[in-house]
Amino acid sequence: MTFYSIYERLKTIDFEAFFASTTTAQVQRVLEKEVLEETDFLLLLSPAAEPLLEEMARKAQRLTVQHFGRVILLYTPLYVADYCVNHCVYCSFSVIHPFERQKLTMAQIEQEAIKLRETGIQHVLILTGESPQHTPVSYLIQCVEVLKNYFPSISIEVQPLETNEYKQLVDSGVDGLVVYQEVYNEETYKSLHLKGPKRLYLYRLDTAERACQAGMRQVNIGALLGLDDWRKEAFFSGMHAHYLQHNYFGTDICLSLPRIRPNLGCFNPHSEVQDKHLVQILLATRLFLPRVGISLSTRERAELRDQLIPLGVTRMSSGSSTTVGGYASSNDTAHSQFQTSDERSTQEVYHQIIAQGYQPIFKDWGSPLDVTLRHERK
Ligand code: SF4
Repeated sequence: MTFYSIYERLKTIDFEAFFASTTTAQVQRVLEKEVLEETDFLLLLSPAAEPLLEEMARKAQRLTVQHFGRVILLYTPLYVADYCVNHCVYCSFSVIHPFERQKLTMAQIEQEAIKLRETGIQHVLILTGESPQHTPVSYLIQCVEVLKNYFPSISIEVQPLETNEYKQLVDSGVDGLVVYQEVYNEETYKSLHLKGPKRLYLYRLDTAERACQAGMRQVNIGALLGLDDWRKEAFFSGMHAHYLQHNYFGTDICLSLPRIRPNLGCFNPHSEVQDKHLVQILLATRLFLPRVGISLSTRERAELRDQLIPLGVTRMSSGSSTTVGGYASSNDTAHSQFQTSDERSTQEVYHQIIAQGYQPIFKDWGSPLDVTLRHERK
């Protein structure tokens, strides 16, 4: 069984009728429970939960401190290539956009690493577009070989791979995978992914599971909020995380809550996700999944990110560039994948987290083999 069989059952729920019939009293009863079931999660995502956000916030804060402490892990994305063979209508890197594509050499990647290390960052997320021809597994392994001299923790967000390919990357030093389904609604998925292997909904849906089977330490999933009804998409992505968490005990499952941002294709979101909706998604997710890490990127503006810190977030990106070579080179021809909102440096985010009574950390685990970074030994 894969998550798809669960999705097939969940999609038959009459969401509109459910949301129309829920009451605040039902949501209140959910808040009194310790362990929540899937119907409880849906109740928390319903319009009837909106008057109870403060109560939800208090419980979410308590659960987060209980399971994670007052700790926020900081990481930074590192774009190494923007070649892509897919046409996703909401993305600046889509194959239909005619701009000069870039792929960093190992020397350039080392320059990026040196710049990033100066910020204190120890966890880096390698990003590419999706083009196996330009960024094959062999290239990704080369990147990891360079980057592990500087960073003890390396994640990837690249084209979906086979289990044995994930195994190779794990063996080379990768400890995390980020893969977004983008949109769980299968019909909407087909209408937004018009060209390339990404059209294969099922192959993408199973990607997280292949990585878990390959022994990836951490797998981070999510939906790109705005591509379809946010209540349903938040429900599906939470249920996906729940499924992975209960089937792969050895993998740390995380969820991201990315909202769609301005992009080269000028794609307008199908479903408006307001700040208060994002808050509700965060709270409902934390209450349903107390042990799932929740990541918030620089897509969101600084003030909102600061307000969300106590409500369930456990990981934040900082000092981010969404452009290939965005840290060390002054390359004007590179395009960003999307516009970031929080432009603060890592140090500014670090100090803000402390000011709010939380502890920012650059590293939350260590491989037994990783005693000292090579560049520190020199
Ligand atoms: S979202 Fe990913 S796969 Fe789609 S066009 Fe952008 S980089 Fe390519």
